[in-house]
Amino acid sequence: MNITILGAGLSGISLAYFLQDRDDIEHIDIIEKDDDIAGLCRSIRKDGYTYDIGPHILFSKDKEMLELMLSVLDAKNDLKRSNQIIYKGRWVQYPFENDLSKLPKDDLDYCVSMFKANPYRGYEPKNMLQFFLKTFGEGITNTYLRPYNEKIWKYDPSFMDTQMVERIPQPTDEEIMRSASGETVDGYVHQLYFHFPSEGGIEAVPKGFARKLTEKCTIHLNEEVSEVWKTEDGSFGIRTNSENEYVSDRLISTIPIQALNTAYKAAPSSVVEHVNDLKYNSIIIAFVKTKEDLSGDNFAFMNPEKDIIFHRISKMDFLGDAYKSDSATYMVEVTYRKGDYTDQLNEEELKHRISDGMVRVGFAKELADTTFINITRHEYAYVIYDLKHKENMTAIRDYYKAEGIDLNGRFGNFEYWNMDKVLREAKNMAESF
Ligand SMILES: Cc1cc2nc3c(=O)[nH]c(=O)nc-3n(C[C@H](O)[C@H](O)[C@H](O)COP(=O)(O)OP(=O)(O)OC[C@H]3O[C@@H](n4cnc5c(N)ncnc54)[C@H](O)[C@@H]3O)c2cc1C
Repeated sequence: MNITILGAGLSGISLAYFLQDRDDIEHIDIIEKDDDIAGLCRSIRKDGYTYDIGPHILFSKDKEMLELMLSVLDAKNDLKRSNQIIYKGRWVQYPFENDLSKLPKDDLDYCVSMFKANPYRGYEPKNMLQFFLKTFGEGITNTYLRPYNEKIWKYDPSFMDTQMVERIPQPTDEEIMRSASGETVDGYVHQLYFHFPSEGGIEAVPKGFARKLTEKCTIHLNEEVSEVWKTEDGSFGIRTNSENEYVSDRLISTIPIQALNTAYKAAPSSVVEHVNDLKYNSIIIAFVKTKEDLSGDNFAFMNPEKDIIFHRISKMDFLGDAYKSDSATYMVEVTYRKGDYTDQLNEEELKHRISDGMVRVGFAKELADTTFINITRHEYAYVIYDLKHKENMTAIRDYYKAEGIDLNGRFGNFEYWNMDKVLREAKNMAESF
């Protein structure tokens, strides 16, 4: 049997890696639209700097997949998280609820009193906002969780379901009191320590897997899938923008479900409607340099304030010697959706809003202290678990399963998956083939 995998991101490459040793598979074609592999794990090189599409760190509760990712690297840096939330000019150590004493007195009292006298505890949460109110109380929700989540998702949390947050533990009264009295407690400890490739950015992970592919696998670059169809004998035909055609016994798609559905002309209008109803965010990544280093030995800074355009800034110098600069370099993230306010900002307006944000958070003394090295836009960044996600994806998956097309990957299967989960799902699929 021969197999075609659409997309050469981490999913596509790792699927080939997990499948290639099977005796019943003769050949695997991987078809990729870009001029290189790695997709969202691609690292950008500009003016001697290397940075990723958003800060990618290697951590996982799934130790087997974490070890596997680390095993394909030449060398790694072992790092300890040092993340801050910038709130009203103060630095509150992440996660917010574990460092409440850094808040101004009024905000501290609001957070603590509403945590203790929380009228929402007895409810079964039906959406993300209700989950926050039940778990953290009105104070912590309105001070940080709600504005930050609105900013990153560009979506009201009362229209998002609980899939992403339902595993967050409820802090105890004792933990909140310790945090309010000045003790900084490390939270979300599974991501307290993390790893990063010593060189080459996060791309070193998919490139490491690609190096392990045997001659059974062929990666075809600059080949954008434009049409997919089923032949009479049940195999699949694939045509690309360069008019090349491939025929395959089995087909796995890791390209965004929107791209597959456009190419699969046989999809009925009901499936097209479900695909069009899926919500996702795009992302602007600005790589900037400042005149001097005003952010200390920290990595990521979250910002819930509405008048600052970015929700997160990450300091690249933190990641190791290969990423250090002579002052400070940052990756700034701004999410948007097609046609929204941010999408309509032109390059100059965007740069002005980012430079202004850098001054407001205190990383630059004046606008001219921020220099832009590069700005890129990436259409598919975050899956949004809106209230219709489950219904839409169930209908889409059922249809493609019946057609014999396997869906995998973050946007291929339309789930908020990190690299560890992407690998786990690729392994699961390969084992069930
Ligand atoms: C801002 C941000 C931060 C992140 N941080 C972390 C982190 O800290 N830790 C972590 O573990 N994970 C992180 N992730 C998640 C991680 O990037 C993904 O889990 C992983 O890269 C998904 O791989 P994939 O192969 O499923 O998808 P993709 O990387 O999207 O791969 C899909 C591939 O399909 C190709 N393609 C698309 N359309 C076509 C077409 N028509 N024809 C042919 N090819 C096509 C694309 O070019 C791409 O190469 C982050 C993601 C983002 C956006």
